[in-house]
Amino acid sequence: MWKKFHIITLWCQMNYADSVRIKSVLTNCGFEYVDNQDEADILIFDTCSVRQKAEDKITWSLKDVKKDKKIWITWCMVQHNFRNILKKNTPNQFKRWNFLWTTEWNQIKVYWVENDEIKDLIDHKQTSLENMVFINHAFNPLFFNLRQTYPNLELCFRIDDTGFLPLILERIWYEWLKYDIELLNEYEKIIPQENANMSEHQTTAYVPISTGCNQFCSYCIVPYARWLERYFSVEQVVSEVKSHLKSWAKEIVLLGQIVNKHPEFLTILKEVLKLDWLERLRYTSPYPTYYSDELLALHENEEKLCPHIHIPFQSGSDEVLKRMFRGYKAEDCFNFVQKIQKLKRKISITTDMIIWFSWETDSDFDESLKLVEVWKFDMIYMWIYSPRPWTFAFKQLKDDVSAKVKHERWEKMNELLKKWSQENNKAEIWWVRKVLVDEIRWDEWSGHTDNMKQIWWKIDWKDVKAWEFIDVKIIDSWEFKLFGEII
Ligand code: SF4
Repeated sequence: MWKKFHIITLWCQMNYADSVRIKSVLTNCGFEYVDNQDEADILIFDTCSVRQKAEDKITWSLKDVKKDKKIWITWCMVQHNFRNILKKNTPNQFKRWNFLWTTEWNQIKVYWVENDEIKDLIDHKQTSLENMVFINHAFNPLFFNLRQTYPNLELCFRIDDTGFLPLILERIWYEWLKYDIELLNEYEKIIPQENANMSEHQTTAYVPISTGCNQFCSYCIVPYARWLERYFSVEQVVSEVKSHLKSWAKEIVLLGQIVNKHPEFLTILKEVLKLDWLERLRYTSPYPTYYSDELLALHENEEKLCPHIHIPFQSGSDEVLKRMFRGYKAEDCFNFVQKIQKLKRKISITTDMIIWFSWETDSDFDESLKLVEVWKFDMIYMWIYSPRPWTFAFKQLKDDVSAKVKHERWEKMNELLKKWSQENNKAEIWWVRKVLVDEIRWDEWSGHTDNMKQIWWKIDWKDVKAWEFIDVKIIDSWEFKLFGEII
């Protein structure tokens, strides 16, 4: 019996939260989770599509899967490729791999179908394409192409269908499984089990409060991969956080594509801050224009809300921001950073920059450099622009910055970042910071401060364990790194 499964969660924090849900649904219907890939009968790849490199790496890692294991693939790679369905003429020999259900009736109807049958259903007005939910993706080019090379690829499913997995699986050789019909639910309503910890950081729980995005920035695949925004209820979020805190978590990270756009974001933060056992609260990713003064006041006054704001500005050039459809100007960002810097509590600020977006001229790039000089970020995550299918930029804007220029711009931005990282870190010396211990390397420990800086210290106190919070006094600093001693 194929019962043991392992989930390989790739990169994105949101995927960790999703993997927790997959694990809960599968264990609830009789599967068994194993920590070790070698022991698993089924390997589930929870994938990422944000950059082409991410997808390429996943395809490469499939090569290492032994032939006696089944492969399932879910999330972004499946979801955005889904859009090709019915456009390609997928051969009918995949009939038994296709499912769909329609949402038009009050009950779930699952069909096993071929392309022609879908057309018939629509022609006979039994349903419409918009109301169909495709479950297994034999029509999906991803499934079709990969199965030529990996016959052990059994299932591609949308993460949104996770709650209904038992229904799908029951029909593909897993007749033995048992499920509670009451637990079949939409993605946003899945309640993760207690102890369903997938996080590589064993005291950090990633809890989604929304999924999808309506912003449609011109370069971003997320609205096509995760689709439009849906919000989780305050009750659901608080109850999930409570259950993690009760059983294993000390740090909570609230997640959403635009996390601070949730209409009840402040309520969620305030409710979570009241909970026992919480040591540290973070959230990602916010959007500059959805910050309210009340949210900044929470950062100022609530000790457990980290004194760190990651705010993805992407560029300092108005022209580039306009082409990115970001909906704000460089001046808005400048004013926002000024507001943060005026708070009584010192907040560290990090950002994302795409510094070589299509048609970025030297003067556009200089605008970005100018703003980094003024804003003095603690960290900039610089992304190599990678055109993604479906997006406006992919279709309409040429990626015309040469590799050489990209490299030179990257170096320039990095030099500036190093300078400010060094300066900002120097100002940390003699501060005492609460640190979450991450790991031991050689004769040193490392961890993260509450303002999200990496810190190292010599092993001088044997009782310290990984995943604990301790107080560390900062005694030295470099770019990107602090050095301290335990007090
Ligand atoms: S806000 Fe823009 S960059 Fe962020 S997920 Fe939405 S579309 Fe993508």
